[in-house]
Amino acid sequence: MKNLYTSLISGAAFPLHEKLKGHTTVSVKKAMENSQWWSRAQLEEYRVRRLREFLSAVYAHVPYYQSLFDRLGFAASSVTSVADLQQLPFLDKKIIRENQQDLKADNATRLSQFNTGGSSGEPLVFFIGNSRVSHDVAAKWRATRWWDVDIGDREIVLWGSPIELGAQDRFRLLRDRMFRSTLLPAFEMSETHLNEFIAAIRAMRPRMLFGYPSVLAHIAQHAENNGLPLDDLGIKVAFVTSERLYQEQREKIERRFGCKVANGYGGRDAGFIAHECPEGGMHITAEDIIVEIVDPQGKVVPDGESGEVVITHLFTDDFPFIRYCTGDVASLSTETCACGRGLPMLKEIHGRTTDFIIAADGTVMHGLALIYVLREMEAIRSFKIIQETREWTRVEVVGDEHFSEQHATRIMSGFKKRLGENVTIDVERVEKIKPERSGKYRYVISKVVT
Ligand SMILES: [Zn+2]
Repeated sequence: MKNLYTSLISGAAFPLHEKLKGHTTVSVKKAMENSQWWSRAQLEEYRVRRLREFLSAVYAHVPYYQSLFDRLGFAASSVTSVADLQQLPFLDKKIIRENQQDLKADNATRLSQFNTGGSSGEPLVFFIGNSRVSHDVAAKWRATRWWDVDIGDREIVLWGSPIELGAQDRFRLLRDRMFRSTLLPAFEMSETHLNEFIAAIRAMRPRMLFGYPSVLAHIAQHAENNGLPLDDLGIKVAFVTSERLYQEQREKIERRFGCKVANGYGGRDAGFIAHECPEGGMHITAEDIIVEIVDPQGKVVPDGESGEVVITHLFTDDFPFIRYCTGDVASLSTETCACGRGLPMLKEIHGRTTDFIIAADGTVMHGLALIYVLREMEAIRSFKIIQETREWTRVEVVGDEHFSEQHATRIMSGFKKRLGENVTIDVERVEKIKPERSGKYRYVISKVVT
């Protein structure tokens, strides 16, 4: 039974909020709650039709694709299967950077600008339009409801972005209060902060948690070490995202909070790609997103085999993401899920790992605390942070022609602010960031054992 407040919020206030923002989230979510039960064949038919419409709209309105399709002799109207996408080249961050204006649809209105580091750590500026926002929010909303919770239920968000914190204007605060979502900044995991987080969670008794798996696991561990119970609060589910979820983290969180962990996979750039259901299936938002898994030569691999995740987001007419390379490594499942949903699944996601780093005074913080220092700099193409010891951290940087000594100084002072004034920060310019032996691109590595 949902309480009255939740029904009021999910049934009235949130729809109004979305409508005022010009989004069609409510109707999209309603359609998605229906289509999740479709058969594979029905879903495929829908996807092909939508792909054809989408590519036709893109050809009509997006200069970059107009010339590309013309050059290739590609006709959007002749698309008869999802595999027809393979006639088109990949889209990567470099192409987006170099064609930022030509990738905007000439009929786009109300585009919002976004910045992200993506999985390979390369900063990226791109744009998203209203229909895409509606679809991404609706997909998240649908997946939330799989877990018997809803928008309006009390939620604690443990997030690390200082950019988001800075954007907390009055409207945002009011909205958060109305939707009963509380943000706790999860950058610095000192003893004091950990105790404060635990006290806040105890006082608020949320129905759901949302955050990085490493952060939630860290809090669970701290509570466990200090004998602080968290499983008596009525928390139903912990939504985790943005990092690889390790089995031991899942167990730690489930044990201490007495709730289930639901893993989500996606990004600001790629959209809401997949989410776990209570049966453990990692369901792809297949109505919106076509996932291809490709090998290093760019060939699509058979289902079940691992490769890079390449996505086409079918509702990005305003700023298209067609065969966008995410830099993540995963494989598709060949199975069907016990929950009965026809949405295809990812089998395994190997890709995203960000580690914790440890400041000179012992404060444990999320690697993103350092990543954000670099992401703000336009002149940086890609980077890798290696914490060798508590006193010494190296940063490999691939910079463009605007990268200067000033940038290096800013990196050093930004890092020292987080790690301690006396630590040594080496900024090394390199031609290319090499992947790990496993093929993973980790952008933060800490060799300091906690
Ligand atoms: Zn399922």
